[in-house]
Amino acid sequence: MNYDSIIIGAGISGLVTGYRLKRLGQNVLVLENSDRIGGSIRTAEAEGYLIEQGPNSARGTHELIDLIEELDLMSELVTAPPRAPAFVYAAGQLHPVPMGPGPLITSKLLSGSAKLGLLGEPFRSGRTEPGEESIASFIRRRLGPQILERLVAPFLSGVYAGDPEKLSVQACFPKLAEFEASAGSILRGAIRSARSSKEKKETPKRSLRQYRLCSFHDGLSALPKKLAAALGENLLDQTRVTGITKSDFYQIAIERNHESRTLTCSSLILATPAYTAAQLLEPVSAGISALLAEIQYVSLVSVPLAYRKDQLTTQAEGFGFLTPRSEGLRTLGSIWNSSLFSGRAPDDHLITTNFIGGATDPDAIRLSDEDLITTVHNDLTKVLGISGEPIRLPITRWERAIPQYNIGHAARVSRIDATLKNIRGLHLSGNYLHGISIGDCIKNAETLSGEVLRQSNP
Ligand SMILES: Cc1cc2nc3c(=O)[nH]c(=O)nc-3n(C[C@H](O)[C@H](O)[C@H](O)COP(=O)(O)OP(=O)(O)OC[C@H]3O[C@@H](n4cnc5c(N)ncnc54)[C@H](O)[C@@H]3O)c2cc1C
Repeated sequence: MNYDSIIIGAGISGLVTGYRLKRLGQNVLVLENSDRIGGSIRTAEAEGYLIEQGPNSARGTHELIDLIEELDLMSELVTAPPRAPAFVYAAGQLHPVPMGPGPLITSKLLSGSAKLGLLGEPFRSGRTEPGEESIASFIRRRLGPQILERLVAPFLSGVYAGDPEKLSVQACFPKLAEFEASAGSILRGAIRSARSSKEKKETPKRSLRQYRLCSFHDGLSALPKKLAAALGENLLDQTRVTGITKSDFYQIAIERNHESRTLTCSSLILATPAYTAAQLLEPVSAGISALLAEIQYVSLVSVPLAYRKDQLTTQAEGFGFLTPRSEGLRTLGSIWNSSLFSGRAPDDHLITTNFIGGATDPDAIRLSDEDLITTVHNDLTKVLGISGEPIRLPITRWERAIPQYNIGHAARVSRIDATLKNIRGLHLSGNYLHGISIGDCIKNAETLSGEVLRQSNP
C-alpha cells in the first residue's frame, strides 16, 4: 500500500483533512489538479491593492483560531474592528443591521408593523406538512414578509448567492427548523436550547468576540499556503486523477508531468466540488455519484473597484452592504475591505469587493468587463454618493461558485452519509455537505479526520 489516505482536492477542506491526518501519524497524499493551492481562497495583488478574489474574510470559529495557533500564524492574523457594522441598503438609505433587541426597536430598516409582527412569533402555529420547506416560506410564516425581504434574503445573497424561494431551511438553518419542530416557535426553542446549554455548563473555551472577522496581513491565501508548507511532499499539485477503482483498497490512477502512475490507499477522501466527485466516483458507487450530481451550483462574479476616499460623500466605514432585490440594484453586496483590514489599499483609498450574479441573476456572468464595472460603479454611486471614475482591478468570474442547499438538500446529504457508511474507506469533504463557510469547512474536515483515523484503526 502506498498511502494510508489519499485526499483529492487542495481547497481548504482537503488541505485541513490532509494536514490533520498527517499530524495524527498517517502517511497521506493530497492531490490537486490545478497549479493553485487553496481552491476558492485566492488572494491577488494589483496596483498597490490586495484583492480577495473568492472569500474576503473568515468568521473566527474555535477550530479556525486553534488551527491558526497551531500553524504559528497568529502573528499574521488581522481582525476587523469588532463593532464594524454591516448595512442593508433599503428605501434609498444604508441601515445598520440591528444586532440586538435595542437596535431592532430603533432601526428604521423595519416598519413598525414588521417589528410588532416579530412579537407574535411565539404564538403562531407550527407547520404540519412533512418534508423540507423553503427559507422564504418559513420566514414569511414565522417572522413576516419584511424580515424576509430586508434581512434574511440579503443575508442569503451574501452567503449562498442563493434564492430564498429555493433554499431549504432544514439544510441552511437546521437549528431554526428544529426549534419550531420541537418547541412550536423559534423563540421558545432558542430559549430552551440556551437553558439546556447553561444546565450542561457548556462554557466556550475562549471568547471569539475579537475574532468576528479574520484574515491575514497578506490576505486569506496565507492559510492554504501555510497548510501546503506543512504538508510539504505530501501534497502534489498539477496532478490529474484519471480513474478510481476499488478492490480491498483504492487504486488511484494519476497523470503528472505527462507520466501515468497508479497509487493505492486504504482511505480515500474526495475534497473536490460535488460535480467532480460525482464523475470520479461513478465506477465506485453509482448511487453516491448520482446524488452528488444533483447538487446545483450558481455562478458569481467578483468585481473589485477602488476609489479615493474624497470621491465619496458617504463614508464607507464598516463591513459593507447587502441589497434586497426590490431596491433595483444589480449588485448583490459590497464589502469595504480596506475599512475592515489594514494593508488592503494605498492611504486615503477605499477598495471594495462587489458581487453580482448568483441564483437570481444567472446571466450576469456573461456580461463584459466593461458592463460589469459600469453596473457595479453605478450601484455604488447611488449608495455611497461617488463622484468620478473607479480604479479598475481584475475581475474574477466563478462559473460554479457556490453549491445551493435547495429544498431536498438535507435529505440528499442524509442519503449520501448513510450510503457512505456502507463503503469502507470512502469519505467526502467539502462545502456542499455541512456548511459553506471557511469555518464550517475546517470544522467538518477536522471531524472527518477523526472519523478516518477511527475507521483505519478499529
Ligand atoms: C466568490 C466566493 C466568495 C466567498 N466568500 C466567503 C467568505 O467571505 N467567507 C467564507 O467563510 N466563505 C466564503 N466563501 C465560501 C468558501 O470560500 C468555500 O466554501 C470554501 O473555500 C470551499 O472550500 P473546499 O475545499 O470545500 O472547496 P474548493 O475551494 O472548491 O476546493 C476544491 C479543490 O479541489 C480541486 N479539484 C477539483 N477537481 C479536482 C480533480 N479532479 N483532481 C484534483 N483536484 C481537484 C480544485 O482545484 C480545488 O482546489 C466564498 C466562496 C466563493 C466562491
